[in-house]
Amino acid sequence: MQQRAESFLPGGVDSPVRAFRAVGGDPPFVERADGAYLYDADGNRYLDFFGSWGPMILGHAFPPVTEAIQSAAARGASFGASHAGEADLAELVQRCFPSVKKMRFVSSGTEACMSAIRLARGFTGRSFVIKFEGCYHGHADALLVKAGSGVATFGIPGSAGVPAETAMHTLALPYNDLAAVELAFENHQDQIACIIVEPVVGNAGTILPAAGYLQGLRELATRYGALLILDEVMTGFRLSLGGAQELYRIEPDLTTLGKIVGGGLPCGAFGGREDVMNFLAPLGPVYQAGTLSGNPLAMAAGIAQLSHLIAHADVIYPHLEMTTRSIAEGVAALAAEVGISITTNRVGSMFTWFFTPMPVEDFAQAAMSDTAAFARFHRAMLDAGVWLPPSQYEAAFVSMAHGPEEVAFALSAARQALAAVWCR
Ligand code: PMP
Repeated sequence: MQQRAESFLPGGVDSPVRAFRAVGGDPPFVERADGAYLYDADGNRYLDFFGSWGPMILGHAFPPVTEAIQSAAARGASFGASHAGEADLAELVQRCFPSVKKMRFVSSGTEACMSAIRLARGFTGRSFVIKFEGCYHGHADALLVKAGSGVATFGIPGSAGVPAETAMHTLALPYNDLAAVELAFENHQDQIACIIVEPVVGNAGTILPAAGYLQGLRELATRYGALLILDEVMTGFRLSLGGAQELYRIEPDLTTLGKIVGGGLPCGAFGGREDVMNFLAPLGPVYQAGTLSGNPLAMAAGIAQLSHLIAHADVIYPHLEMTTRSIAEGVAALAAEVGISITTNRVGSMFTWFFTPMPVEDFAQAAMSDTAAFARFHRAMLDAGVWLPPSQYEAAFVSMAHGPEEVAFALSAARQALAAVWCR
């Protein structure tokens, strides 16, 4: 199947990290997914720890979501015209993210971040953007500078095809280093439009913000007249209903969302301060648009998923916390027993096992990991029926469909897999 795919698609894939280049071997081809499991065409079952890279927080084929998609599809797949579902989903998003006074739906996290940056530049009349090494905000040209995710996995410093003139306004600074941000503002007085940051990094593996770091970014942005954009494409509705901004009590100017907001369908959103959002066409001078934006199927899936999260938040988030802690810490303890040094970074239901004994607080430290050991571990886990994200530089995700049985299965697979890593 891989060969057939490769004859039509570069690398056999539509998104690079799916290709398993970093861990070796061919990826399984998924035929269907249910709850916490993926099934391939040969009938193999895999316990899923990447959840479509984040959206599937309630598990795969969650009945209220699939039913909402089916009934929306029966009413028409796309209108290219306004419908009530857009405001219905927006209302739910705003209930979770009070800082998002107005928003616009798009079709991916890339579009959300790209549009938020254009808006920040249009609103401030400034050109420079601060981002952080190892953070990934989608594949828009200006953001492919020292990016995480596949860019980090394949050791690509930026991307071919991005003109230097486009990248020259992007300042990529080390994460968790406020002094570097202050220096950049000093060196580019009145030129920096915004800071964009993953409040908890997922795209260099999971990296937590140091105490006071996000507050520091907020203060610096305000002091120097720049906007603070929290990229909550991964963390939104995952770390808490209100994402990282609720957890760490930060009020950004703009927020970008994706993944969970669309219930697994192509959907993203960006939003925030009303005065900033009103700069968008048709009210203001910043242009942004989309044929499939606010797509009725995506809105229906998002409404079903967010309604469930909101109605059961008091059960869901503690459950995710407990399950993920058992898995993340359980495997780390097993590794310690056999003398393998792993650093576990985790917030709620996103985590990474870094194959390094050192703490990981920025991309440079993540890059010290033994990626060959990670690759052996990944392969051995897959052989034992557990599918981890296929790169050291990606976060793993746990869903509500992961329960005690899945915890036990993961730990027993890890026991075997760690032996395989150790034996080399
Ligand atoms: N921002 C973050 C934090 C992400 O994790 C991602 C995707 N992993 C994106 C933006 C881009 O989203 P998409 O792949 O939907 O374009």
